[in-house]
Amino acid sequence: MSDDAYKKAFERERLARKEAERITELKSRELFDLNTELKKLNAELEERILARTAELEEARVRAEANTKAKSEFLSVMSHEMRSPLNVIVGFSELLEQRGLEEPEGGYVRNLRFSALQLLNLISDILDLSAIEAGKIAFESTPFDVVHAAERVFKALEQRAIDKGLTWSKGMPADLPQPLSGDAAKLNQVLINLMDNAIKFTREGGVDLEVHYMKEKSTDREVWVAFEVRDTGKGISEDNLERIFNKFEQENTSTRRVHGGSGLGLAISKQLIELQGGTITCTSELNKGTTFRFELPFVHEKRAAEAMDSGTLDKDQVAGLKLLVVEDLEVNRMLLRQMLRNSGVVMFEAENGQEALDVLKEHDVELILMDLHMPEMDGIEATRAIREGRVKGVNADVPIVCLTADVFKETKEAIFSAGMNDFVTKPVEMRRLFQLLGHWRKHIDARSTANA
Ligand code: ADP
Repeated sequence: MSDDAYKKAFERERLARKEAERITELKSRELFDLNTELKKLNAELEERILARTAELEEARVRAEANTKAKSEFLSVMSHEMRSPLNVIVGFSELLEQRGLEEPEGGYVRNLRFSALQLLNLISDILDLSAIEAGKIAFESTPFDVVHAAERVFKALEQRAIDKGLTWSKGMPADLPQPLSGDAAKLNQVLINLMDNAIKFTREGGVDLEVHYMKEKSTDREVWVAFEVRDTGKGISEDNLERIFNKFEQENTSTRRVHGGSGLGLAISKQLIELQGGTITCTSELNKGTTFRFELPFVHEKRAAEAMDSGTLDKDQVAGLKLLVVEDLEVNRMLLRQMLRNSGVVMFEAENGQEALDVLKEHDVELILMDLHMPEMDGIEATRAIREGRVKGVNADVPIVCLTADVFKETKEAIFSAGMNDFVTKPVEMRRLFQLLGHWRKHIDARSTANA
């Protein structure tokens, strides 16, 4: 290569290198700028995320406080609304038992029916809220499942007869007994399904079948299937998917013609599923509908003696010394009337403080304790007794809580304060005597052991 050519080549290469360097520098400046921009964006993003997280946290705290306030509100309402209604239901029941002449007898029946309707609606709304808040408590007490189903069957029989419907049932003969579960909630579901079956059937009839599901059961867990079949108007395929939703009725004319709140099936489904069971519905328009639910119960042999015999055995509670702590005079009067002629010796107190005074004076064997009372509430009074704060008072005396509250938290509070049991208001006569009988046996067993 000549010198000249060599120089040219060298110069070309120098220029090319320079250009490359310029481009590299340009690109690296661009990259640097981009990087700075990115860093800025990143910092901004982090800031935004932090702010958003704080906002969300604030919202979560607010929502939690709202839920708590709502559930407290409901707990108070369940007490405030149910208490007076329970009094109306209780007293109309007592009046009904007097066998009044007509038309007064009819007035009382209407009064009781309407009050019960209102009580049911309030209970539905409260139940649903408690379920939604995950706060529903289930009882587990031994009871005769067949007997309970037969009772519901009997209770609705007249309505079916009045409508000219056939009314049949099939009960299992081989179901192991006693079974533990929540009798009240089983009643609630059965009543809802059978009441609907009557409501939506014009011709034909309603049938209740209870089956012992042997193949699904074990030694401890007994599965029972309940089937409510009707020959009524049926439910279209579209609606079959919706009927278990809350406030859902087939169409607005359903409400006009049949009434109802559209809550019954939503609650029934939740009550069944929360106990580990299932519910299904099959239906054909204008042919009829079948609701089937399957529920597990606990089979407990040792529970046999505690089982509700279904009879009012007044003799076994005669002489029992009972203290009723309840601020409402009407409620005390109701219990007084129920216990009339039973031989139970009933002491009364209007609040926790008075209860402690009565306990100092009298030898009480069992306490029925209301929760919400002025001066000293039921929880505080129970603590005072259990901690031996009151001289001369038996710290182990059995205490049964009287409550209109359905909330799990309330029930936890009851037991952690040291109460032994609870009974939900309205206390039916049968339940009251079953409870007193149960504790009488317990008290007798304890005093024999101590002797
Ligand atoms: P409601 O209080 O309205 O009876 P439910 O939740 O119990 O509320 O029922 C919801 C709807 O499902 C009813 O309004 C009705 O349209 C339909 N339904 C329930 N049971 C039956 C039945 N056995 N036959 C026909 N339709 C039914």
